[in-house]
Amino acid sequence: FAAMDAISQPSPTQVLRDVFGFASFRPLQGEVIHHVSDGGDALVLMPTGGGKSLCFQVPALVRAGTAIVVSPLIALMQDQVQALVQSGVQAACLNSALTAEESRAVEQALLRGELDLLYCAPERLLTPRMQSLLERAQISLFAIDEAHCVSQWGHDFRPEYLQLSMLHERFPAVPRIALTATADDRTREEIAARLGLADARRFIGSFDRPNIRYTVTPKNNARQQLEQFLRREHPGDAGIVYCLSRRRVDETAEWLRERGWNALPYHAGLSAEQRQTNQQRFISDDGVIMVATIAFGMGIDKPDVRFVAHLDLPRSLEAYYQETGRAGRDGLPASAWMVYGHQDVAMLRQLLEESAASDERKRVERQKLEAMLAFCEGTVCRRQRLLAYFDETLPEPCGNCDTCLWPPTTWDATEAARMALSCVYRTGQRFGVAHLVDVLTGKDSDRIKRFGHDQQSTWGIGSAHSAKVWRSVFRQLLAFGYLTVDADGYGSLRLSERCRGLLRGDETLTLRRDPEGRSKRSGTLGR
Ligand code: ADP
Ligand code: ZN
Repeated sequence: FAAMDAISQPSPTQVLRDVFGFASFRPLQGEVIHHVSDGGDALVLMPTGGGKSLCFQVPALVRAGTAIVVSPLIALMQDQVQALVQSGVQAACLNSALTAEESRAVEQALLRGELDLLYCAPERLLTPRMQSLLERAQISLFAIDEAHCVSQWGHDFRPEYLQLSMLHERFPAVPRIALTATADDRTREEIAARLGLADARRFIGSFDRPNIRYTVTPKNNARQQLEQFLRREHPGDAGIVYCLSRRRVDETAEWLRERGWNALPYHAGLSAEQRQTNQQRFISDDGVIMVATIAFGMGIDKPDVRFVAHLDLPRSLEAYYQETGRAGRDGLPASAWMVYGHQDVAMLRQLLEESAASDERKRVERQKLEAMLAFCEGTVCRRQRLLAYFDETLPEPCGNCDTCLWPPTTWDATEAARMALSCVYRTGQRFGVAHLVDVLTGKDSDRIKRFGHDQQSTWGIGSAHSAKVWRSVFRQLLAFGYLTVDADGYGSLRLSERCRGLLRGDETLTLRRDPEGRSKRSGTLGR
């Protein structure tokens, strides 16, 4: 195609049809492609699976010269280049996986104008050698994929991305397109500012993934709940189970395997070969369950991932959206399923407070966590809430999330909350949820006796509610900031300023009643 450019420029629609074999553009794709083909700068926000790649691949074939694509992951580049080459496109990549000889061959091809697209790791692009090559080549456009990697507050921050603004300074006439599936307001502005794309036209796709069913369930026994979910809704399906720590990944994968599930672990502690093997099996074998830390997933192109399960709470709604977005890229029904408990709130809050980050950064992270917690504790449609976070309004409740399908009720928990708070206070603000629940429900365990808590005025005052209800109360008191977690590492709860009104009696509190035995009513996904 590169050779053909000089003679006649094909139209975007021709390229779409003849090269990629698609009859029509996806929503927004056509607009982006025409804009960039005509030499405009673009900032494209589209959900995972929305078809971002074609947004630069088609203009790359329409415009004369070579498109330089910046991509953060070698695996991602290789997949795309392979697919392009199979479609007859002259594409190549430059990354650390190549030998010196292979690199030189690619560089020569670039200089001879033989390439339509050249994928490049950001650190490679910034080298003087590469800069000098670019100056001697004919560049059709710069595409910056996974542009949220430039966001310092984000979870995929890549310092080299910060320097990509120099592309514009050195090649002002070359159009640029930045793409991401992460799109909250702050990240959007950060991308525009840091990549020098303030004047770029913005294309913002709908972030709704209607085929994904969102479910957030109170955590009792995470593994057993996971297995129930798998058995009921996804036997034999491929999916991803996210855990926060490497240890939990290993334990969970092992446990699932013992119980006959086809599960593999993936985390940064495994050797590169092991990771590669497991990833390959996940992609090519049927029905593999990948148990992974967040190190897994970016750029994995597997359209038939039927579920994404979270055993631990993600730090932000962007992370949650991104991770769950790996389910159902083929458009068929898929599940985003999560268990969430007071342990998650306590741990994330503690991690945040103990981190060495600046105050400003902590403030931002705290806000992100609050939004995540509000999503979990919410009683309105999950999808409406999630999309609202990305500034998108869904006019009607979706009918395909747990709160729509099994609406939770609320209850006046003012009295219960006061009991819980005074129990925290009377036991000296030195105990965690499990012990406090034992005190409230009047357990007479050795531990209770040892501390003399059976002599306390709050011992047994909460016996009208089950331990499960009390755990739910504590979880929500933590989530809403009435309680904080002590930095002692034992998960001890302390009262916060916020409690005053409640304890004084001039504030009431309505809490979510966690649905009981929903499992029995829960149907399977309609397929
Ligand atoms: P993203 O990068 O936004 O996650 P991709 O570019 O990987 O999404 O596209 C997701 C899937 O949609 C791919 O399998 C791709 O071939 C397909 N696709 C993209 N655009 C179109 C289109 N116009 N018509 C049909 N399929 C498309
Ligand atoms: Zn809903």
